[in-house]
Amino acid sequence: MAHKVTLIPGDGIGKEVSLAAKRCIDATGVAIEWEEKIAGEEAIAKFGSVLPEEVLDSIRKNKVAIKGPIITPVGKGFRSVNVQLRMSLDLYACLRPCKLYKGVRSRYNQIDLVVVRENTEDLYAGIEFKEGLSQTKELIGYIKKLNGSSIKEDSAISIKPISISASRRIVKFAFDYAVKNKRRKVTCVHKANIMKETDGLFLKVAREVSEEYTGKVEFEDRIVDNMCMQLVQKPELYDVLVLPNLYGDILSDLCAGLAGGLGIAPGANIGEDSALFEAIHGSAPKYAGLNKVNPTAMILSGVLMLRHLNENDAASRLEKAVSEVIREGKDVTYDLKPDRNDPGAVGTSQMADAIIAKL
Ligand code: NAD
Repeated sequence: MAHKVTLIPGDGIGKEVSLAAKRCIDATGVAIEWEEKIAGEEAIAKFGSVLPEEVLDSIRKNKVAIKGPIITPVGKGFRSVNVQLRMSLDLYACLRPCKLYKGVRSRYNQIDLVVVRENTEDLYAGIEFKEGLSQTKELIGYIKKLNGSSIKEDSAISIKPISISASRRIVKFAFDYAVKNKRRKVTCVHKANIMKETDGLFLKVAREVSEEYTGKVEFEDRIVDNMCMQLVQKPELYDVLVLPNLYGDILSDLCAGLAGGLGIAPGANIGEDSALFEAIHGSAPKYAGLNKVNPTAMILSGVLMLRHLNENDAASRLEKAVSEVIREGKDVTYDLKPDRNDPGAVGTSQMADAIIAKL
């Protein structure tokens, strides 16, 4: 029976890369019934909402979705569709494998890291108070009364909630992933020396959970600033990283950079009931419609989706086809060429054709 999957093409370069991924996934021979839904800027024009309820209903029904990147205007307009999707569907685990494929230019010989980012809490939860509003002033006064802390009157405030329950489930997710995928170590990344309550709680829970995996998976922790330096200097020492939301967001891009850049970094957002697969990169508006950008991140997100659907053979074949095309270095987009102006670089759809030809 065909798998039912919701497809959200996205905007900017989203449509091009998601079409490339859809073609590659179909070419594996796995039967998929695609249900296409629109979110983002196009949905505002059509439905008056960036995230129409029917998109969420479709994902709730099909339980699996793949999505192209969607523009989020900085500091104005609508709240990020990506954050709304993660929150509405409680997609609490963000999984981002960062692997260096042969043929990708990188300063390193070997990168094989997996970032597991908590997706629902932290400064990313979107609990914010605008500067100058009466509620903000009231909150500032209340905090002063509660514990004597002074916050400047003209401040804006973002709240950083970290709970035991959300920390426990993300750390468990990281350890279970490590066991299932035969990884040796989980590193908890935090700033518990300064944020003793929030990050301190995350670390305490991580230590507790790690005891359930003694003898199976190693555990250690690192302070986030030190972790950034260590990843740049000796990434081979690390394996699976588990982090609260904001550090996870930042270190995902760092790790993607180590493994050759955003064009090849896939991702998954996973909850108890449903899962949403998407590239780490954004909608790169300046490249929209040019058939220029690298479809690999989106295609590898499709590989993660096939594994999630237990289509392991198809997933391995597709990953192998991608890695062969990259290793050969011929039918690849500009970003994978030694010279970004190489006239031999192919477009998004031609790179997908080359991958399909290898299947
Ligand atoms: P971006 O990832 O869109 O692009 C940054 C740069 O990375 C591009 O200019 C390009 O040089 C390179 N790049 C990105 N994807 C590439 C690809 N597939 N192939 C080759 N090169 C690629 O980041 P940005 O410019 O900061 O964000 C643009 C918009 O995307 C913003 O509105 C942002 O909020 C949104 N965004 C969405 C998502 C998502 O939907 N999950 C994620 C990140 C950013």
